[in-house]
Amino acid sequence: MVHGHNSGRRSSGAGRPPRIGIMGGTFDPVHHGHLVAASEVAHLFELDEVVFVPTGQPWQKDPDKVTPPEDRYLMTVIATAENPQFRVDRIEIDRDGPTYTIDTLRELRSSYGPSVELFFITGADALGAILGWHNADELFELAHFVGCNRPGHRLSDTGLPEGKVSLVEVPALAISSTECRERVRKGEPIWYLVPDGIVRYINKTGLYRDS
Ligand code: ATP
Ligand code: MG
Repeated sequence: MVHGHNSGRRSSGAGRPPRIGIMGGTFDPVHHGHLVAASEVAHLFELDEVVFVPTGQPWQKDPDKVTPPEDRYLMTVIATAENPQFRVDRIEIDRDGPTYTIDTLRELRSSYGPSVELFFITGADALGAILGWHNADELFELAHFVGCNRPGHRLSDTGLPEGKVSLVEVPALAISSTECRERVRKGEPIWYLVPDGIVRYINKTGLYRDS
């Protein structure tokens, strides 16, 4: 049993079902925009835990241009290790083939059991894309979706499936992984855009320097 460590351990204090946030992403690298969004949604929705799920091979992204999963996984662990509410799941890293959010939600749903409430956390850009997926309806059955504002990406609440998606305001951070990678490549600093441990990990490994 891969995810049996979850079952039954977490109590939610208030006698209600546990509420689990799921933050999917490439995390190439993880940055403060991700962490602030997760932290704010955890607060707003009284989540008991947020699970970060680094993608294996994202089907939307060019395999040659994405950093090896193990590096992205380790960076996500480094960035979240100090927060007792955050953990990282290898579920997508360890799955062969391309990554699909629907498989991940099904797996998390079955490992956590039917009683937990799942909240899938995304930025406005990612949520906009998900709304166009052909299996979007099934996704919304598996979890409640939470769309966060993100500088440069607008999402209106018209056309959202009734009661399945919430749009929330999180402190706006105009940070993207793409820009972090570019900055490293150009020799520009990424201090304070990402956690200190991520700057050090990137320096140590030489990631992004000449790609
Ligand atoms: P890339 O530029 O490589 O696409 P990214 O910064 O968009 O990287 P992802 O790993 O693609 O990061 O994003 C994971 C999730 O985090 C997505 O749902 C995305 O919308 C959300 N997200 C990323 N950056 C922010 C931000 N600054 N504010 C709010 N949400 C964000
Ligand atoms: Mg992105």
